[in-house]
Amino acid sequence: MRLIFLGAPGSGKGTHAVRVKADYHIPHISTGDIFRANIKGNTPLGQQAKAYLDKGALVPDELTIAIVKDRLANPDCAKGFILDGFPRTIQQADALATFAGVDAVINLILDDETIVERVTGRRMCACGATYNVATLKGATTCAKCGGELYQRVDDQPETVRNRLEVYAANTAPLIDYYRAKGLIKDVDSNGLSIDQVYDKIKEVLDTL
Ligand code: ADP
Ligand code: ZN
Repeated sequence: MRLIFLGAPGSGKGTHAVRVKADYHIPHISTGDIFRANIKGNTPLGQQAKAYLDKGALVPDELTIAIVKDRLANPDCAKGFILDGFPRTIQQADALATFAGVDAVINLILDDETIVERVTGRRMCACGATYNVATLKGATTCAKCGGELYQRVDDQPETVRNRLEVYAANTAPLIDYYRAKGLIKDVDSNGLSIDQVYDKIKEVLDTL
């Protein structure tokens, strides 16, 4: 299964991609995670990407495309993959089509209001767990490992607004792009719990 998860920042792409990875045994490729790991490790790629991530701007297509192309050439992608956060521009989608096929594009739909609430309230732990202040009840440490929780630099309200604008201008056009190819599977997540959304996603995947 070759999947793309499409949706605004905070729409739940990462959360559900992790579950699909576990249940369907296909790699989860998050360009955001790749960039963040490289920034943390201070690699040449991280040094190039950092300024873009901090601003909530897109990393240039050429760089991003090369990374994904390289990653998809890895043998673990032979059975399929979940792309989370890529493509984010028409140029990236056109490039992807030259080196990989796609079976479905899961389009996670969520109201703007909820998105802003989720992203600005998101807290992370170094172990990979994510939380939201809405459910943390004031806790500042991770329930799984005890680690100190932190906010992603690009989850601050100013940057979130920028990311949403970038999404609307550059990424939302991909919905029509993939709909025209018959690949879009809309998953409306408004008012649903994570489990309920995931059930909808599984229903879609089980038809593929
Ligand atoms: P979210 O989906 O919550 O916005 P991501 O972790 O997917 O978060 O992305 C974080 C940042 O990484 C983006 O704001 C952007 O700077 C960079 N990035 C991730 N994927 C891409 C991509 N496909 N093209 C360009 N930049 C990207
Ligand atoms: Zn933790």
